[in-house]
Amino acid sequence: MSHQPLACILSPDLLRKVARASASERRSPILSTLELDQSFRRRRTELAARQIARPVGARAAAAGGAPNRSIYDQEHSTEYIPGTLVRKEGQGPVDDVSVNQAYDGFGLTYKLFWDIFRRDSIDDQGMPILGLVHYGEAYDNAFWDGAGHMFFGDGDGQLLTDTTKGLDVIGHELTHGVTQHEANLTYSGQSGALNESMSDVMGSLVRQYHLNQSAAKADWLIGKDIVGPELAPALRSMKAPARRTSTTTSRLTWITTSAPPRTTAACTPTPASPTMRSTSPQPPLEARRGRHPGVSGTTRCWTQG
Ligand SMILES: [Zn+2]
Repeated sequence: MSHQPLACILSPDLLRKVARASASERRSPILSTLELDQSFRRRRTELAARQIARPVGARAAAAGGAPNRSIYDQEHSTEYIPGTLVRKEGQGPVDDVSVNQAYDGFGLTYKLFWDIFRRDSIDDQGMPILGLVHYGEAYDNAFWDGAGHMFFGDGDGQLLTDTTKGLDVIGHELTHGVTQHEANLTYSGQSGALNESMSDVMGSLVRQYHLNQSAAKADWLIGKDIVGPELAPALRSMKAPARRTSTTTSRLTWITTSAPPRTTAACTPTPASPTMRSTSPQPPLEARRGRHPGVSGTTRCWTQG
C-alpha cells in the first residue's frame, strides 16, 4: 500500500497520545491540529501520486546562489492558498518576528544546500520558497505540503510554541521538498523512514552549520526551540537513544534508555555523520528515533507508553 501522508514535524501518534493524557479543556487545540493534518494529508497524497521524480542527470546547470523567499501571513485562517504577502526576497525585517524567523530560516537552509552541495533551492532549479505563517488558531504543527509551501503554526503554548523559531524544523521540512524532487520516496515503510531520517539529519545540519558546530559538539536534538512545557526538552534526539512515555499526569516524560526497542525497525538508515556512528551495539537509528506520521513498519519508541 502506498502512503504519502503529510510531512509534519509533530507526529499524529504523539498528538493523539497527548490528547488522551490531557484534561478535556486542553484537548480542543490538539484535536483541531489532528483534524487539519488529516485534511492536508489527503491533499498531499494526491499531489505525490501525480509527481514523477526527475531522472538522474536531468539537472540543468543553473547560476544559483541566492534564495527567492516569500512569506505570507495566513492571519490564523486554515486556507491552503497563501494569504497576505508580508515580506519578499530582498526586503528588510518587518514588525512580525514570526515572518522574520521564517524568512531567515529559509535563507539559512538554502545556504547550507548551496554552500555544501551547490544545490539551488528545493528543486535545484531556483524554486521560490514560500512560507505561510500564523496558520490556524493555536495550530500545533509545521509542515511541508508537497505543493511548494511550508506552513507554520503558532502552537498552543503548551505542546508547541511559534514554530518559526525552529531552524532545524525549517531545515527538516524543506528537506522533505528536496527528497520529493529528487526521489519522491513513498512515505511508508522503509522509504518513509528514510525520508524522515534524511529530513532530521539535514534539519540538524542546517542548525549546526549556522552555529558553526562540529558533529561532536552538536546536541542533535530536533525541535528544541519550538517545544512548549509539555514536550520539553525536544521532539526527538538523534544523539541519545531516548523515548517518551506517558505518566499518570498529562505531562509526557522524556526518558533515555539503552534498552533495545520493543519492535524491529523497518530500516536502518546509513549513518550520515560521525556522531551517528556508534561503536556500541545500538538499535537502528530509526528504531531509536521513533515513528513519524504515516511511516508504517517502524518502531514507535517515542510514543509508546
Ligand atoms: Zn518529517
